[in-house]
Amino acid sequence: MDPMKIYNHSPIFVQNILTTMQGYKLKKRRFGTAYAEYLAELKKRDYSDKSFLTEYQNSRVRELVKYAYENSPFYREFYKDVDISAINTVEDLKKLPILPKELVRANIEKMYTIPMSEGTVSNTSGTTGTSMTFVYTREDHQRRLAYLDHFKSALGFEHLKMRRASFNSSKIVPPTQKRKVFWRDNLAMKQRIFSGFHCKGDNLPYYVKGLNKYKPHSMDGYPSAMYEVAKYILDNNIKLSFTPVAIFPTAETLLPHYKEAIEKAFGCRVYDQYASSEGAPFITECTLGKLHYCLDTGVIEIDEDGEMAVTCFETHGTPLIRYKIGDSVIFDEADKTCDCGSALPIIKSIQGRSLDYIYSPQNGKFTSVYLSLVSQDFNNCVQNMQFIQNTEDSVDIYIVATDKYTADMDDIIIGKLHYSLGEEMKLNLHHIDTLRKDPSGKFRFIINNLK
Ligand SMILES: [Zn+2]
Repeated sequence: MDPMKIYNHSPIFVQNILTTMQGYKLKKRRFGTAYAEYLAELKKRDYSDKSFLTEYQNSRVRELVKYAYENSPFYREFYKDVDISAINTVEDLKKLPILPKELVRANIEKMYTIPMSEGTVSNTSGTTGTSMTFVYTREDHQRRLAYLDHFKSALGFEHLKMRRASFNSSKIVPPTQKRKVFWRDNLAMKQRIFSGFHCKGDNLPYYVKGLNKYKPHSMDGYPSAMYEVAKYILDNNIKLSFTPVAIFPTAETLLPHYKEAIEKAFGCRVYDQYASSEGAPFITECTLGKLHYCLDTGVIEIDEDGEMAVTCFETHGTPLIRYKIGDSVIFDEADKTCDCGSALPIIKSIQGRSLDYIYSPQNGKFTSVYLSLVSQDFNNCVQNMQFIQNTEDSVDIYIVATDKYTADMDDIIIGKLHYSLGEEMKLNLHHIDTLRKDPSGKFRFIINNLK
């Protein structure tokens, strides 16, 4: 019988046991020897030593390029006119061709260096079309998890030793469930998983109850889901019985108004980080709130459009070298250093997915960070918003309003948007109860369907 069917027909306490059993299985695969060894190495790594970091980065470039050429049928062909022995530094990467996403999509199976069954499989969410499957070696997968946990450890959270609450798209709540229990416990990893799908409206008091009882040391997962809980806590002046050490959003863009509400509601800092499912270099936030480019995990190059090409050190299963991932970042001045003591370069901002913008023929592109300011002005009256663009001259705006919303606000919002997007843009305002999510349960603030 299908394990999901067995799960769905079991009582909740059995579902907790099944979740924990699955947790033990994953724990063995994720937190093994490679994880422990790399975590120990990271704890000793001196992040104030710029020359060490640069030399380390160069050595990893050398190793990955050679490995890809020797083990991946795609790269052997792709680099056939290149002298591989001449690729020794980050600077030398420029001698290699750029790897566009379309080329990856067309050749992904030829890129693999190991059979899928020997590795760990990761699917991109497919926000820009069909999803792609990347294969990690088990060792690389563990090293990435170690890197993430080291980042959290530096901010006070010790994974597997302290309790965490995760807001994600695990289908832990069966469709027929009547009881208001929207979480399951994975004791193997000291984790309470909260369903991101149900995190809204009348369910929110139960989420607060579940959190208050569990008292997590950290929270992680979809910021849009944690934002719903935060808004509910703030709107109802709820006092929590716990204060997390830190909160770590993943998977979605952390909008400024999300961060503000979550920090206020839970009384702790929210630390952003960027690490795609493809294996892109990490970008992590430090105690001083600066984003650092972790050059010990890969190389980020920026072209004239501000788009990144990434070389990813932990991708031996599906090597990615000079890969146009579709996101973009803005670097701070090269010689600027952070007062936190790290010699890792500073990044001014991460511009989410490149398709996450509204395009105005009159005034150009507007990204989520910009448009979120519109909903920020209506903090008390708007629960959430979503922008969908299907044609060049129109935008559909979906609003979930609170009871403080008044009719004249429609005109104010339209006025503000006309100001930025141009008077010629047709704006269709819709009031609805729930916003659309993609099949993986991820919420996207902007959906751009323009080709
Ligand atoms: Zn710093």
